[in-house]
Parts: sequence; structure tokens; C-alpha cells
Amino acid sequence: MPPPLRILFVTSECVPYSKTGGLADVSSALPAALRELSIDVRVLVPSYGKALAHGPAVATFAATGNFPGSTIVEATSQDSVPAWLLVCPEFYARNGSPYQSTDGADWADNAIRFGLLSKVAALIASGAVPQWSPDVVHCNDWQAGLAPAYLRYTPAARAASVFTIHNLAFQGIFPAGAVETLGLPGESFSINGLEYYGQLSFLKAGLFYADAITTVSPTYATEIQTEANGGGLHGLLSYRRSTLSGILNGIDTHAWNPATDPCIARTYSAATLEEKSQNKRAVQSRAGLTASNEPLLGVISRLTGQKGIDWIIDLAPQLVARSLQLVVLGNGEARYERRLAELAAAYPANISVTIGFDEAFAHLIEAGADIFLMPSRFEPCGMNQMYSQRYGTVPVVRATGGLADSVDDASIPAGAGFVFSEANAAGLLAAIERAVIAFRDQAEWRRLQINGMQREFGWQASAARYLEIYRRIVAGKNNLMPSA
Ligand code: ADP
Repeated sequence: MPPPLRILFVTSECVPYSKTGGLADVSSALPAALRELSIDVRVLVPSYGKALAHGPAVATFAATGNFPGSTIVEATSQDSVPAWLLVCPEFYARNGSPYQSTDGADWADNAIRFGLLSKVAALIASGAVPQWSPDVVHCNDWQAGLAPAYLRYTPAARAASVFTIHNLAFQGIFPAGAVETLGLPGESFSINGLEYYGQLSFLKAGLFYADAITTVSPTYATEIQTEANGGGLHGLLSYRRSTLSGILNGIDTHAWNPATDPCIARTYSAATLEEKSQNKRAVQSRAGLTASNEPLLGVISRLTGQKGIDWIIDLAPQLVARSLQLVVLGNGEARYERRLAELAAAYPANISVTIGFDEAFAHLIEAGADIFLMPSRFEPCGMNQMYSQRYGTVPVVRATGGLADSVDDASIPAGAGFVFSEANAAGLLAAIERAVIAFRDQAEWRRLQINGMQREFGWQASAARYLEIYRRIVAGKNNLMPSA
């Protein structure tokens, strides 16, 4: 039997070590699914925690160029994928998010902070860890985008590379001078390389140098090749379309399971759906809403323009006028946080807003809400619409990216949600109204809930597609390499 394929999965966040969004969920669940396919996978992720228990060091890297010294320590729990935590306290152990300080400004040294992550990935692929080196370096989002560039300019590195776009809106763009700071050769700074209109783009580096590109849903893969949705990179993406695949994210069906979820008030399944209402009461009670039987609408989101939060804000008085309740958990742009807080103060019986990041409350809202709102302007994949369906909570989504690929409209037999196309508040309101009508028809509502709960959202099929890509690019690399 050939030895298992070895994959180094490089990411800036990973559950349970760090999380600001869906990337962290994917970074833990996809490697676990790959392991089920007998792939030898390690996750390389910065260690942001100040007090993380340090296991034995796997490797130590001396300071080089502008990079300080760093260490990899392995964190493993019994049946999970080994996580290689990149320890460099001066870069990563800070108060704030992985990307920003507590006042919401990007860390000024993000180029070199995430440059280090990519550099270390390339070092590992060049044999810096004697006992293990990868066949494929799988890089995720701009923070890992330089790894394919470093690999290209490191003669000892033999690994192939995959670059996955989780969100094209974040590109990691820095002044041209960063090229030298990061120790990349001057020749890389060209239109055929990592230059983007006179600046350095980490994301473009990934798109240009990786052997294969993937993104997190088939619809988004098509959308980003258009001028309207390509974030200035549609030309390169179209040029590379033969290597670009859209693979829908799965969800962690163990962590998100209403039958076993320790974060919810009452567990339930499709057979005991009536128990779900206990969770609605728990949400209402925690959120200070009245114990109404009218539809409870849930939102768990980064509060940004991408997510259509402004449409929800604009509609809020009309939702209250229809006796609906709204529970929002999120954080993000100050203007949205402020307007939402004002709405909660104006309509305390109907609207509750929790500003912050609270994993356990997110689970409870998924279990307790009747309807989940996700009216994104664009959405590479999105996770909550899938969690919602698994929890018998009916999503209302805009037909974009992964939302279009993972929610079937109520109008078809397999329907489990409400899908609208218009990029405005009126389109969202019309879809909510359709949902409320269905809510009042018990049999119809039950049909939608059961359809969603029975839909397969696991990682199996998607992990198999990643494996195909790994095999293809490793074979391509071996054909190009002179035999040893
Ligand atoms: P994003 O664009 O933010 O990555 P996704 O829908 O792909 O959006 O993933 C968001 C993930 O982050 C989901 O698991 C969601 O539950 C979680 N999340 C977002 N905001 C919060 C919050 N304020 N508290 C808890 N979880 C959150």
C-alpha cells in the first residue's frame, strides 16, 4: 500500500484554538474528514493564546531576515487531527482578535505576522521538520496566501499547493515595500506574480502561484469570475478557471447536533421536534423578550455590509408591527452595533441585541429561533444556514454563493427555506412574509423543518473532492520533477 498522502493545512484560525468566523469551523472539520479518508493531515495555525499549554516542541525556527524566531508545538486530543500551533508571542499573543486590536484597527504588522505563517509552511515543506514533510500545502485565505509564493522560490520544497478562497473580500494588500521585508525576490513583484496595482496582494499570490485553487461553493466559484463579484481579480480567476473548483463546505455534524448539543436548553431530533419550543423559551428568557408564540427570528453574524445587516435594521419596525421577535448576536461595524442597540432599546419586548462573540449562545439561538435570517449581499458559503436546517430552524436567505447552493426554496418538494434574489430590504421582507405564512400552517412548517433536518450537510462528499484535487496536483508535480 502506498504511504498516506500528507497534507499541511495552513490557516489563521481553527476551532477550538481560535475563531472569528466560518474559516475556523472549516479548519477543524475538513481536516477531520480528510483523516477519515486515511490522509495524514496536520493543521498549522498561529497560537494566539497567552496561556496555551505547551506540548513538546515539534520544531524551532531561528530568526531570519525580519522574521523573529518561532516554535511549533503540537496539540492533540485523542481522536482529533494534530494541530501544529505556531508560537511567536511577539506576533500572536496579543489582546484583540487574530487580525485587529480591541479598537477594531488592523494590526499594523499583519504583513509580517501572516508572512511568518506562510514562511514556516514553506520551511516545513522543505524538510525543516525531519520526521514529517507534506506532499501538499493547503493554504486558506489571504493570511496563508504567500505560502505558494515562498514554495515557488524555495528550491528544496517539493510540495504541491492548493489555495482556498473563503472570502475574496479580504485580500491582504500591503505597500510594495513589504516584498523586501518579507524576503521575497524582487522578480515576484510583477503582474505575473504578487503585484496588485502597485501593491503586494497576499491573496493574489495564492491565486497566482498555487497549483490548484478552490473556493467554498460552486455558485461562488462562478460569481467570482465576473467583474461585478471578482473583487478586481476576476481576470486572473477566469484565466485560471481550469484549476478552480467550487466545493461546498460541510458542517461538523457532531458539534452541531440538536440531539446532543450541550449548549441548548433541551435536546431534540426530528422525532421529538415539539421539544424545540423549550429552546425558544430559553432564548426569549435569556434575551429578555416576552414569551410570545409568534415567530422568533434569529441572526448570528459579523455585523458588516456583506451580511445585509442594514436591511434587517431598516425592516425592524415593520417586523415588530407584525408581532415578530428578533434576536441578534454579533459584532462588527460600530454603526450597525449602535443602530441595533437603539432598536433593542426602542422595542425591548420584541428585539434583543447581544454585541459580542458567544459560541454557546449561538447554539441556543440556532435551536430556539423559528426562522433564521441570512440576507447576504454575497456569501462564499456561509455556515449558519446549514446549522439552521440541522436544527429545524427555517432559513431565509438571499440567492447568492453558498446560500443558493445549500438552501432549497419552500416552493419545491425538497424545500427547507425561503430564497429571494433582490438585493434590497423589500426582497427580504417579501421572503420573511412568505415564511410567516408558512409558519402559521403547521403541516407545511413541519415539512420544511423535516426536509432541512434530513438534508446531508456532512463533510464526506466534499472531503473526497479535495482528495481528488490533492492526488491530481501531486501526480502533476511528480511528472514535472526530475527523478531523484
Ligand atoms: P463568516 O463570513 O463570518 O465566516 P459564516 O457563516 O461562514 O460567516 O461563519 C460564521 C461562523 O461564526 C458561524 O459558525 C457562526 O455561528 C459564527 N459566529 C458569527 N458571529 C458570531 C457571534 N457573534 N457569536 C458566536 N458565533 C458567531
